[in-house]
Amino acid sequence: MSLPAMSEISCISTGPAHSVAVVGGGISGLAAAYKLKSNGLSVTVFETEERPGGKIRSRSQDGFIWDEGANTMTESEMCVGKLIDDLGLREMQQFPISQGKRYISRNGIPEMVPSNPMALMSSKFLSTKSKLQVVLEPFIWKKTAAKVSDVYSEESVGHFFQRHFGKEVVDFVIDPILAGSSAGDPESLSMRHVFPEIWDLEKKYGSVLIGAIWSKILSKKGKNVANKTTGKEKVQHGSFSFQGGMQTLVDKLCSQLDDESLKLRSKVLSLSYYNDEISHKWSISYSSHLDNQKQQFLDQSFDAVIMTAPINIVQDMEFKKGGHPFILDFLPKVNYLPLSVLVTSFKKRNVKRPLEGFGVLVPSREQENGLKTLGTLFSSMMFPDRAPSDQHLYTTFIGGSRNRELAGASLDELKQVVISDLQRLLGVEGHPTFVKHFQWKNAFPLYGYDYGLVLDGINKMEETLPGFFYAGNHRDGLAVGKAIASGCKAAEHVVTYLCSSTNKNMK
Ligand SMILES: Cc1cc2nc3c(=O)[nH]c(=O)nc-3n(C[C@H](O)[C@H](O)[C@H](O)COP(=O)(O)OP(=O)(O)OC[C@H]3O[C@@H](n4cnc5c(N)ncnc54)[C@H](O)[C@@H]3O)c2cc1C
Repeated sequence: MSLPAMSEISCISTGPAHSVAVVGGGISGLAAAYKLKSNGLSVTVFETEERPGGKIRSRSQDGFIWDEGANTMTESEMCVGKLIDDLGLREMQQFPISQGKRYISRNGIPEMVPSNPMALMSSKFLSTKSKLQVVLEPFIWKKTAAKVSDVYSEESVGHFFQRHFGKEVVDFVIDPILAGSSAGDPESLSMRHVFPEIWDLEKKYGSVLIGAIWSKILSKKGKNVANKTTGKEKVQHGSFSFQGGMQTLVDKLCSQLDDESLKLRSKVLSLSYYNDEISHKWSISYSSHLDNQKQQFLDQSFDAVIMTAPINIVQDMEFKKGGHPFILDFLPKVNYLPLSVLVTSFKKRNVKRPLEGFGVLVPSREQENGLKTLGTLFSSMMFPDRAPSDQHLYTTFIGGSRNRELAGASLDELKQVVISDLQRLLGVEGHPTFVKHFQWKNAFPLYGYDYGLVLDGINKMEETLPGFFYAGNHRDGLAVGKAIASGCKAAEHVVTYLCSSTNKNMK
């Protein structure tokens, strides 16, 4: 991601005051708003809920701190590191203790995931046949029936990895990773949309292993050059959170906006684009519930809009262009995966086989062994300040494409499922001392085979509606870092758009 050219920034600062609406106060919207504001634009963020953050949601009570949405993030996108620096959040960053120790359940026993090829070869994590298949992948990977260069050919994540590494890797590595990162499964997810970087490696190198080694060498070289030129010290890699949980990032972004710029309990209902000889404007209608007052319906005008609300909600909004309805019938239906998050705590003496590390993922195949959850994060092992010192805090995920119905089960049923799985995996005994439950009806959009049509639809909206931009986890990836990058990219597009319209008006 590159910052807007200086000429663009000066165009904004010397031109008339521009205003931008950001619909949605999730992390992508807040990152976009921050970036727009840093470029001297007037920004208004509309958020339906009474709290900002969207899928980031940290809570605290009785000495516990937990996250009901995203628990950690990474700095793999360049703009994320810059945002953390600019916000002065480095001091608050929290890296999990022993984050390299991650487990996947096999036959009901958490097995540590080997962190490098040597560890893989000496571990019992995979059968000898699969280990050989992994090492020999450069020589034995199978081509698809479709041409690998065909960008529109759709292949499932499961099929792709089976061609390269075999079925056992799909069942016991890829399946649990997908469950833990997107609540999806290898057969429903599209390789091109879920792992675009690995998809590209095949196109470039054939072998994924060779491609990965080359990319690592090249990125190391690039980083060394960048570090030499910037004189920057090495940043700590891996997943992280913040003191107080992920909400700290959200709160810090919100602290940069005043009350007028962040409109909570404000649901955008319709958007109308109109233009005449001298101006292009967006009129936004929204309903507002301020301070428990009656609902009010209000309108406000802007020069541009960044939409970050989920696509199913965008489809319910009314759009107009030049006074005529703008029908979104070209936007296909997006499938969403439901998820329940159950936070439990047990006295340390009641956990017979506690594990240090990040957490344990449960492959679908483990359902044969009676395990029903998708995975559990060892929250207080990662961050000891998240629970009283005599307790272990766990965050367990249930549902996803594997078990949609269970995601909506009653608290009693979910508690039973979680206690049973944790008994098996960690040896917990008795009942939890603390339980919290949060249900996400639409936790993740499913990047399925036809997801290209959703992306085409988003592009079409941007091409047809001047000054309209879309950002967020429906576009460039599900991870928090990707959502931030998407917000920053949309903000850059807005700056470019406003500069070009200012220049046109001045001619
Ligand atoms: C349970 C769970 C665990 C996760 N764990 C991780 C993790 O550990 N690491 C990671 O990197 N990612 C994780 N993710 C994914 C990540 O949290 C999300 O993809 C990301 O936060 C999405 O941000 P966003 O801004 O794109 O969308 P959202 O967070 O969905 O924000 C959209 C916002 O728009 C608002 N909105 C909707 N309609 C309107 C309207 N009409 N008017 C105004 N506002 C509206 C919504 O209320 C919402 O606040 C997790 C997600 C979930 C659900």
